[in-house]
Amino acid sequence: MLSGLPANGTLTAEIAFMFADWYRPDVQLDYPKGGVGTLVDALVRGMQKYGGELRLNTHIQEIILDGESATGVRLANGETIQAKRAVVSGASIWDTLKLLPLTERSPKGLHQLHKDRQATPACPSFMHLHIGIEALDLPKDLPCHWLVVNEWGIGVEAPQNVVAVSMPSVLDPSLAPTGKHVIHAYTPATEPFELWSGLDRKSDAYHQLKQERAEVLWQGIERYIPDVRNRCEVTLIGTPLTHARFLRRAFGSYGPAIAAGQGIFPSANTPLSRLYCCGDSTFPGIGLPAVAASGQILANSLTSLKQHQNMLNDIF
Ligand SMILES: Cc1cc2nc3c(=O)[nH]c(=O)nc-3n(C[C@H](O)[C@H](O)[C@H](O)COP(=O)(O)OP(=O)(O)OC[C@H]3O[C@@H](n4cnc5c(N)ncnc54)[C@H](O)[C@@H]3O)c2cc1C
Repeated sequence: MLSGLPANGTLTAEIAFMFADWYRPDVQLDYPKGGVGTLVDALVRGMQKYGGELRLNTHIQEIILDGESATGVRLANGETIQAKRAVVSGASIWDTLKLLPLTERSPKGLHQLHKDRQATPACPSFMHLHIGIEALDLPKDLPCHWLVVNEWGIGVEAPQNVVAVSMPSVLDPSLAPTGKHVIHAYTPATEPFELWSGLDRKSDAYHQLKQERAEVLWQGIERYIPDVRNRCEVTLIGTPLTHARFLRRAFGSYGPAIAAGQGIFPSANTPLSRLYCCGDSTFPGIGLPAVAASGQILANSLTSLKQHQNMLNDIF
């Protein structure tokens, strides 16, 4: 579920930390009160506390290079921001490369980066169904999560075969109006982008395919709530095109499909000086643990020895 690959392609590093976490005695799955947005708020608070600035709706058009070194970024509105220490891209590798177009005069390091990383295999995308439903007379013991595997024989990576359902308002009623529930159902990284690529989002063909490919999600929810379609007050269907557009990920991909034995995640370094990458394209796993670890390791690497020593002195 996290790696985006079947077990035989999942890297040992990921299996190790997931097993260590899940099979601890008395383990529990925690859910943040107020929804996952509260985790984002906490990260933003932490960043601002140390002088960081968050700019939303700020599209980066290009990473600026001076020879073999990254010196800043150019925004879509033409503004440039100079890097004091380094440029760190948290976008996926394919989206990062779009910010560094190759020309004949590009430096060697950039040619190397494209050569090494452009062909990184991508996990498939998602179908999403977000609904808001009437909760009247629903059983009181509905689970927060359930997972449907339609057919074991064809494998968990087969399109339309696995459906993951989350109903967080059973744990935290503040996530829905009184007497209602919110549900998110999705196919976990098994929807082929090729089925959707090039479709006009306003066309009938797109709308028809959307309904067809979402059917399996409805059926997954019906395992626990048979009359869910009659209860719906809000219905939003997301496709790989929605995923690519709103999460701004090339091919609407879940992340790199780097299979065990066939490649390794590249870490934060790039062949260009002062250009680093973090996020799920860089550290084994995909998922928040991998993303958090990649950012933490990079932050540590960019911190001077003196700062490390000061921190150790503070701790002891
Ligand atoms: C349906 C679903 C369920 C999941 N469930 C789990 C789970 O239960 N547990 C778990 O650990 N993980 C889960 N994941 C995976 C997890 O959400 C991702 O691995 C993680 O969010 C990736 O973080 P990231 O920072 O690397 O990339 P992203 O979250 O994609 O962040 C990259 C950011 O870069 C921005 N960006 C891109 N290009 C530009 C540009 N040119 N200018 C400015 N900004 C730009 C994007 O807008 C985006 O905000 C799930 C993912 C999905 C889709």
